Amino acid sequence: MSRVDIKNVWKIYEGNVEAVQDLNFFIEDGEFLAVLGPSGCGKSTTLRMIAGLEDITEGEIRFDGKVVNNLSPSERNLALAFESYALYARLNVHENIAFPMRAKGMSRAEADKKVMWIADILNVTDILKKKPGSLSGGHKQRVNLCRALVRQPNITLLDEPISHMDVRVRANMRARIRRLHDELKLTTIYVTHDQEEAVSLADRVAVMNHAKLQQIGTVDEIWNHPANRFVATFVGEPEMNFIKGRIENKNQVSISMKDGKSILPFHGTVDEKSVGSEITVGVRPQQVRLYMDGNDGIPGVVDLTQFQGESVIVTVILDDLDMSEVKAVVEADWLPAPGEKVRLEMAPEAIHLFDGEMPILQ
Ligand code: ADP
Ligand code: MG
Repeated sequence: MSRVDIKNVWKIYEGNVEAVQDLNFFIEDGEFLAVLGPSGCGKSTTLRMIAGLEDITEGEIRFDGKVVNNLSPSERNLALAFESYALYARLNVHENIAFPMRAKGMSRAEADKKVMWIADILNVTDILKKKPGSLSGGHKQRVNLCRALVRQPNITLLDEPISHMDVRVRANMRARIRRLHDELKLTTIYVTHDQEEAVSLADRVAVMNHAKLQQIGTVDEIWNHPANRFVATFVGEPEMNFIKGRIENKNQVSISMKDGKSILPFHGTVDEKSVGSEITVGVRPQQVRLYMDGNDGIPGVVDLTQFQGESVIVTVILDDLDMSEVKAVVEADWLPAPGEKVRLEMAPEAIHLFDGEMPILQ
């Protein structure tokens, strides 16, 4: 068992820096949780408090119900891999990975066997004899990950563990980390500023901004029901489009065009008193459809096209009063040219509505 409960946790550094404010969430035994947010939002501080490397100013952290606030890192039985790797310079890679196991009294033969096993999975077999000083940042991070994951601890804490790796190997490393998590039945907390990484790895994602938890939920919940405009914008690539609109009635919103208005139906309900108010319509680029003809949807003109392998990001300038810029992700087999007239359609279930920062659809 290794459930973690974070209860009303605060971290105030010297100089009154509120790095973490009133944090509340839990991680179930066996879960893979990503902590996601922009640089400086308090992710590493949170992880370091769970690890016991940083005092908690206020609140409680429990492992399996037991308060661990005053336990040292070694008493918490954790595996850690931080962005900056503290590898022993005088030991080679093999010895670095074996060291924590040997320090706990494991026999050399058994430790060696485990080193060979993890080295194979994380692809460092051919650098086992090298000293850390001669390794690239990406390889040092691999070794650091090996050292953390080989131990099969209660809880695995990873802080941007693949950030120094080549973009092309990252997807592959993510898959390996997730496989190890599943096979070893680990409980993993993974810190990252990269939304794609969080979404592709985690069972649930905790989104932070400005020292506060913004939302915690499954990838599906966060994608389809963002708790506020920050989450809606931060998760998803390209980011969600926003267009000014007005609530026409309980299931339609309008956009003011240069001539007349475009009506968009939406799913869900809004409060009666929102009818008539100015709001923001949000729609993800993946949920915008483009057509060359017909009279349906919102008219606009193609501004830019960007290839992305199988798909293309098409930027359209709408014929609305604001000349809003809207991105659509379309299949690469049909490509409108810049300057071409198009029509945009959005399914009612793809429509998000925001009043300021807050979503208003129930
Ligand atoms: P993240 O990992 O999300 O980038 P951090 O948890 O490292 O963010 O930092 C959160 C905030 O706390 C930042 O404003 C950072 O400058 C501040 N901070 C981090 N460590 C310290 C420290 N030891 N002393 C004072 N302020 C700190
Ligand atoms: Mg950090």
